[in-house]
Amino acid sequence: MSLLRHDARRDANEPEIVEALEKVGCLVMRLGLIDLLVCLRGELFLLEVKTLRGTRTKTQAKLLAEGWPISTVTNISEALAAISTQSRSFRRCKTCDHTFEVGQGGYSENREFCSRAYCRLKHMRGRKKKVLELASLASPPPVCDIAAQTKTKVTTVEAWMKSAIPFGHS
Ligand SMILES: [Zn+2]
Repeated sequence: MSLLRHDARRDANEPEIVEALEKVGCLVMRLGLIDLLVCLRGELFLLEVKTLRGTRTKTQAKLLAEGWPISTVTNISEALAAISTQSRSFRRCKTCDHTFEVGQGGYSENREFCSRAYCRLKHMRGRKKKVLELASLASPPPVCDIAAQTKTKVTTVEAWMKSAIPFGHS
């Protein structure tokens, strides 16, 4: 929840960063001297939101010098990196760009898609379409090239090609 109303002096990229943090389960409080106090499952993080050309105020420089653990972030990826730890990071779904957590408390490290079953399926269908397009060219590339180009296993490519041949043509 944002406790303060949006203030014109705050950086323009702050609302989207706050929204992204809230979407992955963070509590976000807008502060004064430092922009954001972020809480993720009991851990606290201090984030300073800057546009790429933004500069630190004297107060912020002083706080950093005193040893406050403040992360300066300019976009959503940097904000998610700032709340990542050795055992936790965030990734974007290959299909819908939705952000999800991997590692402790999240999905397994090698997960590529968000929790919507549809995303994995849609990605698979896109690859299958591409495989069949390549295979139906006048002079189709070798199966292993099709597999490499579509980042699909050779056995899967072969199975898709086989299933697409109309009955009686093989
Ligand atoms: Zn997705």
